[in-house]
This record gives sequence, C-alpha cells and structure tokens, in this order.
Amino acid sequence: MRIAVIGTGYVGLVSGACFAQAGYRVTCIDTDRAKVAQLTEGRVPIFEPGLSEVIAEARHKGTLEFSSNTKAAAASADIIFIAVGTPPRESDGHADLSDIGEVVTAIAPVLRDGCLVVVKSTVPVGTADRIQDTIQSRRTDLDFDVISNPEFLRAGCAVGDFKRPDRVVIGTESKRALGILETIYMNLGIDSTRILATQRRSAELIKYAANGFLATKIAFINELADLCENVDARVREVALGIGLDSRIGPQFLSAGPGFGGSCFPKDAKALARTGEECGARMSIIETVLASNDRRKRSIFEKIRRASGEDLRGKRIALLGLTFKAGTDDMRDAPSIALAQTLIENGADVHAYDPVGMKRAAPLLPPSVRYHVSALDAARGADALVVTTEWEEFRHLDLLHLKRSMSRPLLVDLRNMFSEQQVSDLAFVYCGIGTRSAWRGSAAIAEGSRRTARRLSKVARSGRQEGLVAAQSIAAAE
Ligand code: NAD
Repeated sequence: MRIAVIGTGYVGLVSGACFAQAGYRVTCIDTDRAKVAQLTEGRVPIFEPGLSEVIAEARHKGTLEFSSNTKAAAASADIIFIAVGTPPRESDGHADLSDIGEVVTAIAPVLRDGCLVVVKSTVPVGTADRIQDTIQSRRTDLDFDVISNPEFLRAGCAVGDFKRPDRVVIGTESKRALGILETIYMNLGIDSTRILATQRRSAELIKYAANGFLATKIAFINELADLCENVDARVREVALGIGLDSRIGPQFLSAGPGFGGSCFPKDAKALARTGEECGARMSIIETVLASNDRRKRSIFEKIRRASGEDLRGKRIALLGLTFKAGTDDMRDAPSIALAQTLIENGADVHAYDPVGMKRAAPLLPPSVRYHVSALDAARGADALVVTTEWEEFRHLDLLHLKRSMSRPLLVDLRNMFSEQQVSDLAFVYCGIGTRSAWRGSAAIAEGSRRTARRLSKVARSGRQEGLVAAQSIAAAE
C-alpha cells in the first residue's frame, strides 16, 4: 500500500510520518522545494515535540521519502491524502481553496484505478463533491473515491493526538473506502471504537462545528473574565466551578488574550460565511468572532491603563509570541496585534519566545527587539507581559527578574501566576479576570482603599523593595 501525502505542513508532515512509522510506504510532497530539501537532509522545518523522532525512525526503516513531484507520487499511490493549507480568503474570510484546486488539477490526469483521494485539509461542506466532479469530468472511466477525513490534531501535541485521537472521522458513502481507511488507522494502534463513519458532507461540517464550538467556549470565558473584573469575582474559580460540571467540561475555559492560531479564527470565519451562503446564519459564531476581535483591542487598553496610560518611550517586554505554548506556529497569534498596537502607541517592544522568534520576526513590526532569555527581555522594562503560557516561565526567578526591571509591573495574560505569589515580591500584578489586578495601578490614582492597603502593607514590612515599588507605582500615576 503506497501513500502520498500532499502538503507537508503541520498536518501533512505529522500524518505522513506516523503512517510511515507504522510501516506504510509514504511520500510526502510539497511545492516548497526548500522545505523538501531540508526534510530530505533529515532536518525538520517545524517545532513539534516528538516529530523528529518519528521521522527519524521512519527514514531509518526506509518507509518515508520527500518530493516536490506531485504527479509522480500521485501516479504510484493507492491513497492520496490532501493536507494543503486552506487559509482565509482576504476578500471575504471564506476558506481559500486555491491550493486544493491546484492539487486536484495536478493529480487528476495521473490517478490510478481504485485509488482513494482523502481530504484531510479543513474544507467547506461540499468541497469533496466538487473534487469528485472535477476528477470524474477529466477521467470518465476511472474508478476512485473521494473521502473526507478531517484532522483534529493540536499543534504542540500533534504526534500524540494523531496516534491517540479522541476520534477519527471518515466521511464516505463507499464501504470499500471506509474499510481501507479503517484498516490503516487501526494499524496505527487506534481502536475501532474511536472511528466514526459518517456521510461525507457531515464529516466536512464536523471539523468546522468542533472548532466553532471551542472558539465559542474561549470567547465565553473571556467575556466572563471581564465581568469578573467588574464584579470582584475570580474567573479561575468560576471556570473551575463550571468546568467540574461534566456537561461543560474543564477544557478551553482558560481566560486569556483571545484565541488565535491557524485554525480557530479561520475556521470560525469560514463557518460564518458558509452559514451566510447557505441560508442558515451562524449568528453565534459571528458574535464569537466580533467578541474575539474586541478582546484583542481591550487587552491592549488594559495594558495601557496598567502602565499609566502614556506608553511613549516605555519599554514593554513580551514573554512568549506563539499563539499558544508548545508550538512555533505564529499564525494569528494575539502577540502580533498587541506588538503592533504597542509600537503604534510609542512603546519600545522587547520580546522573548523559547521557539517562535524566527517565525515571529517577519510578522511583527521590524522595531521589535528579540532577546535570548526572559531575563534579558525584562531588563529595564516598565512592564512585563506574559503573552504565551510557556512552561519555562513558571520557573522564572521572579525576584531576580523584578530587580532587573525599571518598574515592577507584571501583566499576566495567561494567568500563569497567582496574585499572592507575585504580590509578595512587590510586583504589581495584573492577571486576567480578577478585579484587584486590573484596577491595580489605576486604582492608586483613584485612591482605592484596597490597593493602597496592599501597597502600604508591603511598605510597612520594611522591605526596601516594597517601598520602591509603592513609590514608583504612585509616581507613575
Ligand atoms: P501548513 O500551511 O502548515 O502546510 C501546508 C503545506 O502545503 C505547506 O508546506 C505548503 O507549501 C504546501 N502546499 C501548498 N500548496 C501545495 C500544492 N499545490 N502542492 C503541494 N504542497 C502544497 O498547513 P497546516 O497547518 O498543516 O494545515 C493544513 C490543513 O489542515 C488546513 O486546512 C488546516 O486548516 C487543517 N488543520 C490544521 C491543523 C493545525 O494544527 N495546523 C489541525 C487540524 C487541521
């Protein structure tokens, strides 16, 4: 059984490598020749934990190769997985299917009898029907099937997700195709109970529905975080309290700077457009998208308020740039808009990310300065903003970090630290979804008894740092 995987990005490379590790003969194809050259030399172009090891094992077995020759690989394959990107179209936000179209045009003339064309890319409902029609119109006597097999892996734990998925969705009306794909996934060690066979169109929609729902959960908890700040409740406690309800579940209830990444924003947009086109408006998803856009703007406003309104000449250190921890994926990362707006408002932005700086550099404004460590980025900073929840940030020597800063303001957009933990170090701490946090520095000017009491307690403790912190914050107001 020969497999061709077209598109060697996060999804294609992980899928191809895992199939090859399981013993299938796989050719991963990409039009990006530099990427193919890198992979052929044994270098892995993306950061994805465990992926290098899977690729190395498959290469050692001789089951995995890389190529830019789509036609040759498709001509000899029994199964062709399409895993090219489907980014949002600039004109209207709908999925841009031009790469899919290019692939179909390239492979249609060379497909062999009995082959399966499996769409792994996230595509709007009805796309597989159109692929089927295109191939059929060019090869009237070809026996083939087009299957929808959307991918649900998460960047940062993609290998584990691929090998141990919650479910594998196979959308096809063909029993033969279903049988072949079931066998392939079961040979990866996936239990048959995890395989969900559906109608082809349902499979396409399942992917969008899943991402739309998860984006909704995030937008919901982010709005709730704002409410918590206004009514003096704590969003972490609220999230825990609702997440323990098995009907709701604890995942995707971490309030933060808004969702980003290569999937949620684009898939939510595409779902909204599909709804519009097909006469069933996705008004909840439209609201989620608007709420997420507002979130990104309001986060900046909060940072500005916490920093004393005027950002001109202030040095702001961003800790973390990628859209989430565990990946170098920068697509639609909240740090992009944040860095841009900070700079537009006169701030000097300094940044550190454990793995994402190379991919971040072309997307962030050119004046952003990059550093080799969190400590280096924080040196002389007026505010430290935790943008991505990298595990290494939990282990920072916060006292050391604070001493190197000009002003002890810690804006924690991921709630990695607790207020208690950092206020003992005389940091002014602004987490997400707690009132005292965001009112922190602004509240001093308002004469908030709560904040004043906290600062004077620090000062009374006699620690010089406490005094300096209290004085510098008060001076800034
Ligand atoms: P990606 O941008 O990382 O990779 C796509 C690759 O396809 C690129 O290397 C590109 O050079 C290549 N390509 C483009 N046109 C080509 C062509 N004509 N022939 C051969 N190669 C071509 O994309 P990705 O993140 O892997 O996503 C792929 C699809 O999977 C998308 O539809 C996405 O929505 C979906 N998906 C992504 C994730 C994720 O976590 N990234 C998860 C689930 C589903």
